[in-house]
Amino acid sequence: MDSYDYIIVGAGSAGCVLAARLTESGRHRVLLLEAGPNDRRFWLQVPIGYGRTFYDRRVNWMYMTEPVATLDGRPSYWPRGKVLGGSSAINAMVYVRGQAQDYDDWRAAGNPGWGWDDVLPLYKRLENHAWGESAWHGGSGPVGIAAPSAELHPICQVFLRACAEAGLPRNADFNGAQQEGAGTYHLTIRDGLRMSAARAYLWPARRRANLRIETGAEATRILFEGRRAVGVEYRQGGRTTTARAAAEVIVSAGAVNTPKLLLLSGIGPAEELQAHGIAPLVDSPAVGRELQDHFDVGLIYRTTVPTLNNQLYPWWGKAWAGMNYLLARRGPLALSLNQAGGFFRSRPGLDRPNIQLYFSPLSYLKAPPGTRPLMNPDPYAAFNMSVSPCRPTSRGFLRLRSADPDASPEIHPGYLATDHDRQEVLEGLRFLRRLAATATLSALIDEEIQPRPAGVDDDSLLAFARAHGVTVFHPVGSCRMGTDSRTCVVDPSLRVHGLEALRVADASIFPALPSGNTNAPAMMTGEKASDLILGRA
Ligand SMILES: Cc1cc2nc3c(=O)[nH]c(=O)nc-3n(C[C@H](O)[C@H](O)[C@H](O)COP(=O)(O)OP(=O)(O)OC[C@H]3O[C@@H](n4cnc5c(N)ncnc54)[C@H](O)[C@@H]3O)c2cc1C
Repeated sequence: MDSYDYIIVGAGSAGCVLAARLTESGRHRVLLLEAGPNDRRFWLQVPIGYGRTFYDRRVNWMYMTEPVATLDGRPSYWPRGKVLGGSSAINAMVYVRGQAQDYDDWRAAGNPGWGWDDVLPLYKRLENHAWGESAWHGGSGPVGIAAPSAELHPICQVFLRACAEAGLPRNADFNGAQQEGAGTYHLTIRDGLRMSAARAYLWPARRRANLRIETGAEATRILFEGRRAVGVEYRQGGRTTTARAAAEVIVSAGAVNTPKLLLLSGIGPAEELQAHGIAPLVDSPAVGRELQDHFDVGLIYRTTVPTLNNQLYPWWGKAWAGMNYLLARRGPLALSLNQAGGFFRSRPGLDRPNIQLYFSPLSYLKAPPGTRPLMNPDPYAAFNMSVSPCRPTSRGFLRLRSADPDASPEIHPGYLATDHDRQEVLEGLRFLRRLAATATLSALIDEEIQPRPAGVDDDSLLAFARAHGVTVFHPVGSCRMGTDSRTCVVDPSLRVHGLEALRVADASIFPALPSGNTNAPAMMTGEKASDLILGRA
């Protein structure tokens, strides 16, 4: 059996950071297991390629949740990256860290070392921001972050003027002194190429003699001696094999697969495990519970002025965009489609923004099911605006469907389960309608084409949200961090309660969703985990 100091399961946003940091000194031997392939694929490097990888089973787990009662019984499609870089290799690249208060809340929930003052230096350590080093950003870390402006579609500026007219002022940096306002998103892109965690951390580290990266290697069980994790069983190329970890096993398989692997290894609610014939090693009722996700509802408007649809729909437009990208790595293919957006307070009395706003200068309503044709949008001019409550109070859960590692887990996302969440979706949609009614935007809107017919009362808006709302792909919390082993899976040092030499480091440990996108916080968690493991202050 091969032996290492550390085994990391999962080369995603957090796992890549850890693999690079733990091998930096040359003192530790590390095995990184990734179920998916390497990331040498054109569409994983071209920013707009996430339209292609959205349904590509070769690099995507393509999970489908159970039917969601609150969404009229619709299941929700959950893509998750299955490739070096994990979900950071297939995501929409928006770089938002969240609000300082989010992390102070994590700390106040019993997690010393996770407050804003603690994590800001970790964010700065990982960033290589286009604006350089400042009080708010790092300028020399591995993760390139672009702050595009001139390259964005001009209609984004109209959207920003409409926001100002609706009372939401301009904010050039959602990761700066304050998050509130409307602006353009900063993106994990450098030189026209996607900046996945693999590109940022793994590419520079992959030739280190003390790092072994195994792709196509899916962990099926964590191995124990007594209560101490001593290795991992994994499948690769049709063979089942094992590797030993002298120091620790770290699971970074993401918010769906990390709890799944713990459950398969006997860590979870004892009764549930026994029902699947799995002998419980430790009764950990919180594994798979407290699942949270951001839910998003969007409106689509047909316009009297050109949008990105006009540029990308005709063949000559696609040809131009393709040439522009291949020759200069510029143009719409070098960007995310979430070009503008913001954060706002949806009702009086709130002390910080509670809703995130997205603006895309394009629409693809006519897309056939099972496709996301970002480069083949609708044949008329249109744009898409959507809202996503930042801190939903609904909770879902996930559990094993069977003890077979090939079976996908049952995912119950629990969207819109609380009055709070339904209220915030309604408030968000009303704000979008207010934006559309501003003199600035209404001057170029032809008609609202989703929802249709255009309801105005709360019941129709909520019915629309249930029928059309989607995930923002931010599941977290399924192995929540905290001191109480009945309600949390890992302690503030990311150690699994009740066991030795086993940690979890990925988005599954978040005590609560941060107010924003989750890639940056997942990479920060990788940085933090490396400090905890190496005993750095
Ligand atoms: C389509 C999409 C769009 C998104 N857009 C954005 C965005 O614009 N901005 C943003 O901030 N966030 C976005 N996100 C979310 C963000 O990318 C994720 O929250 C983040 O990448 C999660 O990091 P992680 O380390 O927890 O897990 P992941 O990055 O998902 O990594 C888990 C890794 O573990 C591997 N793995 C799983 N099981 C096993 C196993 N048994 N054995 C071996 N390997 C295993 C997986 O294949 C994967 O590579 C998006 C996500 C998706 C899917």
